[in-house]
Amino acid sequence: MFVSDALKINDRRHLEIGGCDCTDLVKEYGTPIYVMDEGLIRKNCRLYKNSMDRYYKGNGLVLFASKAFCTMAMCRIAQQEGLGLDVVSGGELYTALKAGFPMDKVYFHGNNKTAEEIELAIDSNIRRIVVDNKWELQLVNDIASKKGKKAKISFRIKPGIDAHTHDFVQTGQIDSKFGVALENGEALDIVREAISLENVKVEGVHCHIGSQIFDLAPFELAATVMLNFIAEVKEKLGLEIEELNLGGGFGIKYVPEHDPIEYDKYIESVSKVVAGVCIEKKIKQPFVVMEPGRSIVASSGITLYTVGAVKDIKNVRKYVSVDGGMADNPRYALYQSQYDAVLANRPDALKNEMVTIAGKCCESGDLLIKDIMMPEIKPGDILAVLATGAYNYSMSSNYNRIPRPPVVMVRDGKARLIVRREDFHDIIRNDIIPEDL
Ligand SMILES: *Cc1c(COP(=O)(O)O)cnc(C)c1O
Repeated sequence: MFVSDALKINDRRHLEIGGCDCTDLVKEYGTPIYVMDEGLIRKNCRLYKNSMDRYYKGNGLVLFASKAFCTMAMCRIAQQEGLGLDVVSGGELYTALKAGFPMDKVYFHGNNKTAEEIELAIDSNIRRIVVDNKWELQLVNDIASKKGKKAKISFRIKPGIDAHTHDFVQTGQIDSKFGVALENGEALDIVREAISLENVKVEGVHCHIGSQIFDLAPFELAATVMLNFIAEVKEKLGLEIEELNLGGGFGIKYVPEHDPIEYDKYIESVSKVVAGVCIEKKIKQPFVVMEPGRSIVASSGITLYTVGAVKDIKNVRKYVSVDGGMADNPRYALYQSQYDAVLANRPDALKNEMVTIAGKCCESGDLLIKDIMMPEIKPGDILAVLATGAYNYSMSSNYNRIPRPPVVMVRDGKARLIVRREDFHDIIRNDIIPEDL
């Protein structure tokens, strides 16, 4: 009945997540509030891990792409479930460090890592720095050299496949800020250069072809293209690359029309392609890494808001405004992302009118959902926006000086705070009025 398995309607006919009644959560923590179902997050982690173990016979690793939901508690869960972590900034790396995450399972991505970030990564002995470009290769080598270390690196490759939801193109991806291209020889060139350097060790290659993808074909194609590159490197440079990282990007159900493939099916199919191409190209089967973010946490999360003003502009549109908006979920404003919603206090009420859910920020584009069928909504109702577990908290801002909502994790009827609510003190924490102003 809902887009996410995390939800049900309980005996009080309220929305329930992780055994907790949403109206009780609101009484205890206020609104807006992010709620995450711990059980479902763990279930998703296990699904990925078990599939990888099965289809690659233990010769693989699942990383949680932390940018989807980077908090210390989430790092702890990923660790407990045997996942590695992908980070893309010093701040994400620091979060993992402070959570006590094992650094030999951390990969560092990004197209413009700073010297400080690279230094932190090398000092922390992380498993892999995924080098994006030649300038960065030199920087990593220089920093490692000063420390008398050898950095273990892989390369971000543009496989020439660009996939988003229901379409993908096989050319043109050369126009991307990420990585080095195959078709113009950049990729082979950077590997050649790396082999000649003293303080880096080439361990792998990496690609990430897009996000919220529903098809198998682009993933299979990417694996093929990358393995062909590994074969080319072996033939032309005499180096057998031992690790293939296929990135993330698996789609999830935001609205009922979305129909994602089962992750187990995806992993099974790609593993067959990997095995086949390795035999055909006479290369050793590499260690395979994948990096799901969204598909591990998105459907585990909801955001609860209190409805305020309801504005019915006759024959135009009915706006329902909530006490949050683009500051806690900028995804509609950024790329017209779709979401589903229900009333947490009357989830089974008949949906009989079309409304637009708006935030409280000072932007006309501050919408959460445009044109959704809902029951008649009154001020004071509790609105739950569904599948907000990925790229909501992690993309939140203090726009309009709005404090960030807390994150509450629920499991077996128990709720625990994992990120506290910001207050006005947090808002002005870094402000300074210079004495001579
Ligand atoms: C964003 C990203 C991911 C995760 O993507 P999802 O769509 O959340 O699965 C994985 N790897 C890299 C390099 C990324 O940039």
